[in-house]
Formats: sequence, structure tokens, C-alpha cells
Amino acid sequence: MPNMDKNKTAMPEQEPMIRNKNFQEVSLGYTEENAKIEASRCLNCKTKPCIEGCPVNVRIPEFIAKINEGNYEGAYEVLTSTNSLPAVCGRVCPQETQCEEKCVRGLKGDPVGIGRLERFVADWHMAHQTAPKKIDITKNGHKVAVIGSGPAGLTCAGDLALAGYEVTVFESLHEAGGVLIYGIPEFRLPKAIVKKEVGRLENMGITVKRDAVIGRSITVDELFESGFEAVFIGSGAGLPEFLRIEGESLLGVYSANEYLTRINLMKSYQAGYDTPAVKSKCVAVVGGGNVAMDSARCAKRLGAENVYIIYRRSMDELPARKEEVHHAIEEGIEFKLLNNPVKILGDENGRVRAIECVKMELGEPDASGRRRPVPIEGSNFAIDVDTVVIAVGTSPNPLIKSTTKGLETNKHGCLIADEAGKTTREGIYAGGDAVTGAATVILAMGAGKTAAESIIKYISEKK
Ligand code: FAD
Ligand code: SF4
Repeated sequence: MPNMDKNKTAMPEQEPMIRNKNFQEVSLGYTEENAKIEASRCLNCKTKPCIEGCPVNVRIPEFIAKINEGNYEGAYEVLTSTNSLPAVCGRVCPQETQCEEKCVRGLKGDPVGIGRLERFVADWHMAHQTAPKKIDITKNGHKVAVIGSGPAGLTCAGDLALAGYEVTVFESLHEAGGVLIYGIPEFRLPKAIVKKEVGRLENMGITVKRDAVIGRSITVDELFESGFEAVFIGSGAGLPEFLRIEGESLLGVYSANEYLTRINLMKSYQAGYDTPAVKSKCVAVVGGGNVAMDSARCAKRLGAENVYIIYRRSMDELPARKEEVHHAIEEGIEFKLLNNPVKILGDENGRVRAIECVKMELGEPDASGRRRPVPIEGSNFAIDVDTVVIAVGTSPNPLIKSTTKGLETNKHGCLIADEAGKTTREGIYAGGDAVTGAATVILAMGAGKTAAESIIKYISEKK
């Protein structure tokens, strides 16, 4: 008989006022007992709607049934047959709008905690694995280049390597992992997990060339000339957007990209690293997505007394994951909703001293379907801050397009690729944020998978 408790089994967490002063992981993960209780809530439905909700179609009831049996390694095998990064996805996927949104248990209570169970299985596997499983791969002698080592590039590279291709991943940064390593903070996704995943791929024979900027160190055409038969571009959307308001060049204004890279990739929060930490008292983070939440929560951990999220719509439209918003509120982040910055004010030394906002109200729905924020005339006011972090979106960096003939982009700078990942130039495939604009880890992984299949087809047909 399934356990009919309406509530999800709670996730053990660090106390909010303790965790907002450290960078250790916030959610501590299910114990075996927690996992078994939660797994017993699954009804093993005939129709399995949860699978439809997962962009990579993880066989959810099957892996949960294995947890019920106590066969955690079996659960891991089911998970990894379609998802190569379960420890990452179990932590950062927006399950509430994917698998868990479709879960039948959600009709009368909480859905099954699918993400939490996924994380439990992945962590159990990592903790109990003695030596990496040796995979015998017969090489086929064909070479493929992958640009970018984020979830799209890593997934594409992994699938190609499993099929026998000789894969080289080119990564512009000194660490592989994309946003997983430079963007999402340690307290949400420990970097040791990302490094393990990259190490697993390297064990499979994939070469990862770090500090290699395609379009600068070497061009895409030079990759083809040096013997690569196909190229996958998974270069993400790392170019920050700004507000284009007065005062954005003042000292103390950062793009979220720079702010988070300093903290996560360059470890500015840890002693012994050269990158100086941004020391602030009052921080305004502009934006309402995951990037804004991560920036605000990092600012708090770096010692800021007041941290404000400034967002022009209301709580209902906030695009960040609900869990992240909940965690941010618990940690003391203040939400200044229905406010839009119009100017950043500086002092005589050119440093930020305040941010001027105008109050907003919600009007008719716009093209995105969300109610359009409309300024309330004469409602301007200033908030005293010494740091402003702009987290209002990113777009793909134009470097690869501008150095590769025949590669087309749309008006947002995103590479044009069809459903199979094929771009406008023969032999070049693309996927992830470089094609969709800023999206999610699982969508980038799905795109990397699809492109790998297309590349295999392309090279075998050419043969
Ligand atoms: P990326 O992860 O951006 O990787 C691209 C890689 O390509 C980078 O390493 C980059 O250095 C490299 N590169 C770029 N140009 C070149 C070049 N010319 N030569 C060589 N290498 C190059 N998604 C979720 O699902 N859940 C979350 O909770 C979540 N939180 C997020 C928090 C933050 C702060 C950010 C920024 C994003 C978040 N996202 C989240 C979004 C998610 O991380 C991205 O959608 C995903 O990482 C995109 O994967 P990708 O492989 O397409 O690109
Ligand atoms: Fe289990 Fe929910 Fe999927 Fe049904 S929909 S099989 S209850 S996880």
C-alpha cells in the first residue's frame, strides 16, 4: 500500500541564520530513511504523467520503485540511462514546473519529491562507488570538436564518446562545467560534484582543452582543417545585459555574471585566493530570476547587512524557482517588488551611493502573457546602497558567429539551429543556451543529446 501522507518528506537543511554566513550546501539531502518514506508515496501510476514532464524522459516510477526495494545502485542505473548528470539535476532542476507539476499526488497535496529522490540516488552512488566503472569503448577513428563544457557540451561529448567518437572539448575558462562551475554557487551545487562529472567524462577518453577560446585561440574553420569532421557549439549565453540607465558605469556596479564568477569560479570568498571579495554593506540586486537570487544570497554570505531584490513585477511573476525564493526570504533577503530602477546615484569619488526606483503597477498582459508593469508617475524614491548587481538577463556571446562564415543568428544573437541541432552551416551543430538564450540545465542537456545523435547520423552518412 502506498504511503498516503499529503506532505513531501521534509529535506534536512542548515538553519537560515547559520547558512547565510557560510557557503556550504543549504539542503543536506535525504537520509536513507527519508528517501524510503518519500519513495513509498509514489503510486506507480499506469499512465506515468511524471515521465512526460521530464525533458529527458527519466523513467521516474521505475527508479523510485528501486528505492522502495532498497536497490539504490539499480535506481542509479535507471536514472543514468537517460540523464547523465543526476546529482546536478536533482539539485537545480525546476521540478515544480516539470515532472513534479505532472505528478498525480500533486492533485491532493504535495507531489512526490522526485528531485529530492534523484539527488539521494546520485549522492548514494557517489558515496558508495569504490572505483569508476570501466567502460569498454571501441573507437571509430572519427573526430568531433565540442565548444563549451556546460551541460550541453558535456552531454553531447559524453554521448559521442560512448558511440566511439574521438571527442575534444574546447573550454575558454580554466575550469570545465560552464554555468555549473562559474554561475551557480557552491551552497546550491557543490563544485566537487561538477568536477567528478567532468572527471568521469575524461575517464571515458574525452580530451578537455581548458583556456581555449574558439574564435580567438583557434577558429571553427581551423578546427575543420585540423581534422575534426563535425563541430558542436554549446557556448551558452554568457553575455550580460544591462539596464542602460544613468550611473551604470559607477564603481560598485557589477553584472551578475562578473559578481558570481568572482565568487564561484575565482573563489573570492575563500582565504588563499587572489581575487578580492566584494565587501558591501547594502546591496541592490536588480532582477527576479535564479541568477538574481544567487547573487543576493552570495552578497548576504559575504557579509552585507541589507540585500534587496528589486523586481518590476510582483511575487506571482517572479521567474526564479520557488524553492530558491523561499530560501532567500528565510536568509533575510528583502524583496522590493513592483519597483523599477531608473538611475544609479554616485558620490564624489564615482562610487555607488544609492539607486533610484520608480514604483510600478501591473497593467494588461504583454506578449509574454504576463501583466505589463507600468510606472506610477511621480513615485520615484531612492534606496541607499553601496553595490548594485544587475541580473536582468544574458545573451550569447557573438564571438563564434563573428569568426565563422555561414553561421546565422536570430535578432537576439542566438544561433539558428533546427530541431536536430543543425545550424545554417554544414557539419556544425549547436544547442543549449547558445540557441535558446538563457534557459535551464536539463534543456541544455536534452539539446546536447539530440545534437550528438544528429552528428552520428551526419558522419555515418558522409562515410
Ligand atoms: P553554459 O553552461 O553557459 O556553458 C557554456 C560554456 O561555453 C561555458 O563554460 C563558456 O565558458 C564556454 N564558452 C563560451 N564561449 C566559448 C568559446 N568561444 N570558446 C570556448 N568555450 C566557450 N538552470 C536550472 O535548470 N536551474 C537552476 O537553478 C539554474 N540556476 C542558474 C543560476 C545562474 C547564476 C545562472 C547563470 C544560470 C542558471 N541556470 C539554471 C541556467 C543554466 O545554468 C543554463 O541554462 C545552462 O548552464 C546552459 O548550459 P549550456 O551548456 O548551454 O551553457
Ligand atoms: Fe509516482 Fe507521481 Fe509519477 Fe504517479 S505521477 S508514478 S505518483 S511520481
